Formats: sequence, C-alpha cells, structure tokens
Amino acid sequence: MTPQGKCAACHRKAVAGKKYCVHHSQAHDSLMDHYKAWVKAYGRISMEEFMDKVLVMKETGSWIREVIAAEKDQMKL
Ligand SMILES: [Zn+2]
Repeated sequence: MTPQGKCAACHRKAVAGKKYCVHHSQAHDSLMDHYKAWVKAYGRISMEEFMDKVLVMKETGSWIREVIAAEKDQMKL
C-alpha cells in the first residue's frame, strides 16, 4: 500500500485524490491518452504490453518511465 498523500513514483506530495504528484500525474495522463490512441490504431493491446513498448522508445521521458515502473510494481502485488 502506498501511504496516502505521497506520490507512488517519487517522494513528492500527491495531488489530492490521485496517487501521483503533479509531474507524475501529467505523465500518467499522457501515458493513458497514448494508450487509448494505440488501442484505436492497432486494436487490442494489454496495458502491460503497451508499457513495455513505450519503455523501449528512445523518446520516452523520465517522468513517463518512472510512472511505468510504479504501475508495474503495483501489478505485481
Ligand atoms: Zn511523483
């Protein structure tokens, strides 16, 4: 369990009602938008497969990488 009020991907304060801080929330939102666009364009792909593809892209920024690492950690639980 992530303590309430702390970002799941770093030590900053989480945005109220979210599990991420401002920076990681933005990264998470854009990751989700990207995911929806992929599903539209290429059909069914699991979130996990999608995240693996994003991780190998050179243009993926560090905020997104940290969000993916946090999401993957939560999947293992
Ligand atoms: Zn954060």
